[in-house]
Amino acid sequence: MIKFKFCPKCRGDLYLAEDIFGKYLSCLQCGYLKDLPLVEQQPDPAQMHGEAQELKTA
Ligand SMILES: [Zn+2]
Repeated sequence: MIKFKFCPKCRGDLYLAEDIFGKYLSCLQCGYLKDLPLVEQQPDPAQMHGEAQELKTA
């Protein structure tokens, strides 16, 4: 996933990448990095619902 002209430094293109520490945005032009908050800290009703269903059926 690429966010065009999203870089706050150079207005370059950011692409979404992921490593063992989580997801981050990286700029193709200047190398700017921005960590994204962990998904667990932002409860997603749809995801929580899915997990709850899995627990019930398991
Ligand atoms: Zn940049």
